[in-house]
This record gives sequence, structure tokens and C-alpha cells, in this order.
Amino acid sequence: MTIDRDRFVALFERQPELEVSAPGRVNLIGEHTDYNEGFVLPTVIPQRTHVALAARSDRVVRAFSAQVDGQAPFEYRLGAEQPRRDWTDYVQGVTQVLGEERFIFGGADLFIESSVPVGSGLSSSAALQVAVLRAFRQAYSLPLDDVALARLAKRAENDFVGAPVGIMDQMVCSLASDRQALFLDARTLEYRLLTLPPEVELAVINSGVAHQHSAGDYRTRRAECERAAAALGVPALRDLTPADLPRAMALPEPLGRRVRHVVTEDERVLQAVAAIERGDLAELGRLFYASHASMRDDYEVSVRETDLLVELARAEDGVQGARLTGGGFGGSIVILAKPGKSREVAARVKAAYDRQSGRVSTVLVP
Ligand code: ADP
Ligand code: MG
Repeated sequence: MTIDRDRFVALFERQPELEVSAPGRVNLIGEHTDYNEGFVLPTVIPQRTHVALAARSDRVVRAFSAQVDGQAPFEYRLGAEQPRRDWTDYVQGVTQVLGEERFIFGGADLFIESSVPVGSGLSSSAALQVAVLRAFRQAYSLPLDDVALARLAKRAENDFVGAPVGIMDQMVCSLASDRQALFLDARTLEYRLLTLPPEVELAVINSGVAHQHSAGDYRTRRAECERAAAALGVPALRDLTPADLPRAMALPEPLGRRVRHVVTEDERVLQAVAAIERGDLAELGRLFYASHASMRDDYEVSVRETDLLVELARAEDGVQGARLTGGGFGGSIVILAKPGKSREVAARVKAAYDRQSGRVSTVLVP
């Protein structure tokens, strides 16, 4: 067990009976393609959220997170979940959707311990929900496969937490094992798991910039895509190919460029999958840079700081590619480092960035 039994016992006055975990994730490529019903390619990171559980014979849930300071376990009754607008909603949301689906289960004491950076874009939220669902699945032998589990986690986050997220995070957290990437079709949810070649070494650096209006800008991008799809007569931008780009570029600014990002990004995901499958990391690196340029120039979701991080990475010998990862307007970059170089490269890029930007970045991976 990763979770300290003594702490569990001190808190709940009984022994934990099982422990499960789920990983955080980073998106390798395929940004702002999910809501356009296109392709994404996330992979799991080494950090995980662990949940230790002891089942209860009543309908009470007590939940404690080591990442939340100075609290007593939060206690509630199954069937009486009430949003509180804090971390407990991720746990309550999970039991609420299990109840709605008529699964048969009882209460539990839960101890949560995580090494996934919280609120940094590495999907600590999906890791938490997937881990809690796994704990209930195992304790109560719930007939839930990994895809059904991901769907329930998404529903809990949408309906109970109130975050309008897509299903990418939950799918990769639920389905991918260590060193696997998930090639996912966001329209059909068809997927393929790819094992990353051993030479793939990733680094993730957070810029320390969080854009105040990122939620509003995200909505604006989604609305622009919907307008462009309607103007071009397709259900979603996913239905366009590079041959449609001349037509798209005739749309009023900035719609053409938004379409060009989405269409070329979908192509890049397909090319990245092929590059990984034949072990061509130089090509994967080129696709990272091209994706970044497209997000910067056409989709306009990068900021000065994330551009600087990518340029500093590009200047490093030990780097094959780098790009903004996640929704943008600040946030993190993902670096494809050469074998054995990720730690060193990340430290050097961080130091140069902090010096030049006056901000404090954080190396999240490795
Ligand atoms: P991200 O998923 O990128 O980390 P989110 O804002 O989607 O960011 O989710 C972060 C929220 O998830 C936290 O504010 C907290 O409510 C909850 N959370 C995630 N991990 C934990 C944890 N280990 N303990 C308690 N709450 C957690
Ligand atoms: Mg999240």
C-alpha cells in the first residue's frame, strides 16, 4: 500500500481493505479538437492518485484527502449528496451517478493521497474520480468496464461538479497503463492504446501564468468553431479535410484560421500516431512544433510566456519537440526530450524562463 495504514487507522479507527490508484495525464497532441469531434492523443504521467477504502455496513461515506489541509473527514449519506463547491463534490458526484445508475453498493471510509499536481492541468480531477470509482468497483464488485467507468466520471464532473469538460481526461486515466498513450476519436469514442517507445521521454513545465478570462476565451473559441461549421455546412469541423481549407479561408476573419487549426491538428494527431508506431521520434517532435505554431498563430490560445518556454526548449540540444499542452491562455508546455535528457533539459529551460520572464515556472514532469 502506498497509503500509510497507520494514518488510515488513526483517522477511521479501522483497517483499510483495499487500495487502488489512477494516473494524471498530459495531452501529447490534438488540442481543441475534442469539442470539434476530432482526434486527441493524451498519455498518462507517472504521478497517481491513490485511494484506500474500507467498506461500511451502513450508507455513510467518510472521505479524507491528504492534499487538503487541516480538515476532518467529510461525511455524508449515500443518496443525500449535496454540492458544496469544493473537492468533496468529486467524491459525492461519483456516488451520486452510481446511485442514479442503480448500482448496488454501500458506504465507505476513503483515504485519498495524490502526487498529481492539483489544478495544474494534469487532470488531478479525473485521477481522483477514476480512483474513487475504482475503489467502489472493487469493494462492491460493480459490473463496470473501464469505458463505462470513464463515462460515469465525466457525468459526475459535468452534472455534479458543474464543469463542462469533455471525456478525454477520464478515458485516458481509466484506460491507459504506464507508458501508454490513448488515441481517441472524440466523436465515436473509438480508441486505440499505443505503447510509447522506450526512447520517448517527456517533460512538462508550467508557465506560472493562468489567464483570468480563460473560461470566456474557451467559450469564444467553441462558438467560433460552431459558427464556422454551420457556415461550411458540416455537423462539426471534424467533417472537413485539408481539401476544404480554401473554402474555409474565405470565411470572415478569424473563422478561417480557427478551422485551419482544427483540420491540420486532426491530421497531426493521425501523423503522430503513425510516427509513434514506427518509432520516428524526430517526426513526432516536428509535429509538436507545428502544433504549437498552429495554436499560437491560427487558434491564438498561446501567450508570450508559453511561446517563450517553447522557444527555450527548441534551443536545447536534448529536445526534439515542444508545444503548449491543454487549453492554453497560460498553462503548461510538453517537451519531447531525447533519451536520458528530460530532467536536465527541464531544469535548464525552467532556469532560463524564470530569468527572462520574471515569473516562476514549475517542472511538473519528470
Ligand atoms: P486539474 O484537473 O487540472 O488538476 P481541476 O480544476 O479540473 O484541475 O481539478 C482540481 C480540483 O480537483 C481541485 O481543486 C480539487 O477540488 C480536486 N482534487 C483533485 N485532486 C485532489 C486531491 N488529491 N484531494 C482533494 N481534492 C482533489
Ligand atoms: Mg480537471
